[in-house]
Amino acid sequence: MKVVVVVGGVGGARFLLGVKAALGLPPIGPGESPHEVTAVVNTGDDVWMHGLRIAPDLDTCMYTLGGGIDSERGWGHQGETWVVKEELAAYDAEPSWFGLGDKDIATHLIRSQMLRAGYPLSAVTEALCARWKPGVRLLPMTDDRVETHVVVDDPDQPGQRKALHFQEWWVRYKAALPAHSIVPVGADEAKPGPGVLEAIAEADAVLFAPSNPVVSIGTVLAVPGIRDALRKTAAGVVGVSPIIGGKPVRGMADACLTAIGVETSAEAVGRYYGSRQTSEDGLLDGWLVAPGEQVHVPGVAVRPVPLLMSDVQATAEMAKAALELSGVDLD
Ligand code: GDP
Ligand code: CA
Repeated sequence: MKVVVVVGGVGGARFLLGVKAALGLPPIGPGESPHEVTAVVNTGDDVWMHGLRIAPDLDTCMYTLGGGIDSERGWGHQGETWVVKEELAAYDAEPSWFGLGDKDIATHLIRSQMLRAGYPLSAVTEALCARWKPGVRLLPMTDDRVETHVVVDDPDQPGQRKALHFQEWWVRYKAALPAHSIVPVGADEAKPGPGVLEAIAEADAVLFAPSNPVVSIGTVLAVPGIRDALRKTAAGVVGVSPIIGGKPVRGMADACLTAIGVETSAEAVGRYYGSRQTSEDGLLDGWLVAPGEQVHVPGVAVRPVPLLMSDVQATAEMAKAALELSGVDLD
């Protein structure tokens, strides 16, 4: 069976552990299996810092599935040290608000070197994955440069607006500056990464991880051609809600939803993705929500199932429910 999962970082990576387990693959690392999982990963969070190209969501997926993640933090390497960060701070080098770990820097050095030598991000990702062996094909949504920016009131110049890189808004300001708009800069001209459209077309099931609907899934959908491919695939398309009881399970997705005028609820996010059957640009056949939620999304099969990814077993049950709702037979 071929399964495609659209993902961001932490929520996406944890969900992928469950998808692998649901298909009988080892959650961490490679494994023998007739099944194939392809993740289409958001790259709108990517950024140049200190001369290094950082791809947070790709790295989170790669480290999580490859067994190298700091599972308490949810991002970065386990056993990380911060010597370079301290040295940069001693030079007053900006930005100082970004957590750049020593081990992580090795990954960024290789990525930056390869990009400067002319390799596309997809080839770089494949090279990095040769070490981590995530057991999932990690495809950047695009090889082109797309960077999400957030328009806010300028904290330093009253009455003026300013566009911040998503990372600065999220990490430095903790999404506390109200966003007027969120724009995936460069998405208009971006092309889907190699293999992305083919994977969607050939899939038996397509799942949306419970990732941030705006800056993770929404950014992937902003790459021209991807939405169309999702609407046309013969596979069932099922999304998993990242919102439980009107709140994001972790993080500040509510600040992103507010910025695009979508209420923070499982129903509103389901309607934002829309129905593949009854709406002109909708994407979903099925939508998983938490038990006890009264959710109606016209044209979409809504199913309540426990949605907390508390461990791999619980996540595998979620993934199984999503795969079943998509119409594939798991037995
Ligand atoms: P990021 O790129 O690291 O921000 O991660 P993602 O975009 O992939 O995922 C972030 C989303 O995951 C947040 O909006 C959370 O609400 C959601 N999330 C985190 N843990 C869980 C969980 O256990 N269950 C569900 N349903 N959603 C979760
Ligand atoms: Ca992210």
